[in-house]
Amino acid sequence: MSTTALSDLKSSLDPKAWSDDPAELSGHVSDWRGRYRGDTPLLLKPGSTQEVSRILAACNAAGIAVLPQGGNTGLVGGSTPQGEVLISLKRMNAIRVIDSENDSLTCEAGAILETVQGAAAEAGKLFPLSLGAQGSAMIGGLISTNAGGVHVLRYGMMRELVLGLEAVLPDGRVLSDLSGLRKDNTGYDLKQLFIGAEGTLGVVTAATLKLFARPASTAVAVAAVDSPRKAVELLGHMKDATGGAVAAFELMPKRGLDMVVEHVPGARHPLAGDPEWTVLIELTSAEKDRAATLMEAALEGAFERDLLSDAVIAQSEAQAHEFWMLRESIPEGEKAHGKAAKHDVSVPVSRMAAFMEEAIELAESADPDAMVVAFGHVGDGNVHFNVSRRAPGADDAFISRIAPITAQIYDLVDKHHGSISAEHGIGTLKQAELLARKPVEAEVMRAIKAALDPNNIMNPRILLGVKPS
Ligand code: FAD
Ligand code: ZN
Repeated sequence: MSTTALSDLKSSLDPKAWSDDPAELSGHVSDWRGRYRGDTPLLLKPGSTQEVSRILAACNAAGIAVLPQGGNTGLVGGSTPQGEVLISLKRMNAIRVIDSENDSLTCEAGAILETVQGAAAEAGKLFPLSLGAQGSAMIGGLISTNAGGVHVLRYGMMRELVLGLEAVLPDGRVLSDLSGLRKDNTGYDLKQLFIGAEGTLGVVTAATLKLFARPASTAVAVAAVDSPRKAVELLGHMKDATGGAVAAFELMPKRGLDMVVEHVPGARHPLAGDPEWTVLIELTSAEKDRAATLMEAALEGAFERDLLSDAVIAQSEAQAHEFWMLRESIPEGEKAHGKAAKHDVSVPVSRMAAFMEEAIELAESADPDAMVVAFGHVGDGNVHFNVSRRAPGADDAFISRIAPITAQIYDLVDKHHGSISAEHGIGTLKQAELLARKPVEAEVMRAIKAALDPNNIMNPRILLGVKPS
């Protein structure tokens, strides 16, 4: 990379818009789990869309590769630079407009999810995207990875929550549609190209998001089930018995909760007897007090149908919060237990039980030390299928030893018509698998990328970085 081009770039910018101070750079060149480490010659911090446009036009002309960064919470190696110039969106964090009549909110890409949720709540509305990293993850990053989380069952993934967006193309042109239209049939839906593109087509600078009415009542319960198969049956029952009021349905294995109880201060098992499998159910309703009544009746029906053996309905917001904290703390508990081979996979809900039975058998019979900790968004057919070591303190050696199991798990995912990346994306972690399992799709994506980014400056190593052999 030409140093003249970099110094020209610096001198063309407001001094607030860049840094090459190693102390500041160090916070941006590794991920939160310490799994990926990299470097960058320059951190750019544009304060406006025009500034992003000038930066990209200059980088494009000089052939300088760039990597956009939001909250740096991504889980697939896509936010760590390896020599690229970093473009952090952190200064572009304004909530631009809340249009209550249109049920929409327009914000800049660097707005933190929790801030957006709070702004919507202040306006008496709901922005439903919700996930463990919401205190750090930014709207631009969440859009670029098409994030999911715990309310997909009711509201959909980020893809369904974006009404319009503003993005700067690699040559500096700005594509802008922040009008918040729900109906617009003027050709290709271009915004969808940028959602889930992992920063390979341009820099997302702003978005108009969908807002919803806040539910008038919410009920949260935990229930003990015998197996993932029973969990799926219980999901069907709860959806039918509540007229579609299920907002979240999450699976928590005893093994995952054990790790939380051991490592997270104040955490305790939610049900007596520490059952092998627990589900967390959230119902919401537009009617006051209705969610709790629905929950009670539906759980009673489930008990009579032998779908669950025990259940507790949260009696206060604090108890509901405690149940949710247990679910959200599983990654933290796992991390403290040791390294794990992680698989963020999805299958049709109707295939979930068979997939889980076969995949657990496969992983645990392949290695006597392997212990599956499978948890998460079973209501969406998405499970975080993680393979840990039974004894604590697993390191890289264990991960390498069990690496061959990963391909076999993905083969099972294919057999059940699923996806090898349900919600975290491809990054650098799953590129080879994507190419091997979706060659035609990868070819088409490459053609789209070549059309929009002919000089290949946008995240050249991410998503499509590996060339077919
Ligand atoms: P980054 O990590 O900074 O970037 C992610 C990717 O997007 C990178 O490739 C980057 O180059 C690109 N990018 C970032 N900003 C832009 C932009 N403005 N324009 C173009 N490209 C850009 N995800 C789920 O879906 N569901 C979950 O339940 C969930 N739980 C999580 C729990 C924890 C504890 C953590 C740490 C992560 C979790 N995630 C989950 C992952 C989370 O979705 C992603 O971390 C998040 O979407 C990324 O947002 P970010 O702002 O941190 O982006
Ligand atoms: Zn998840």
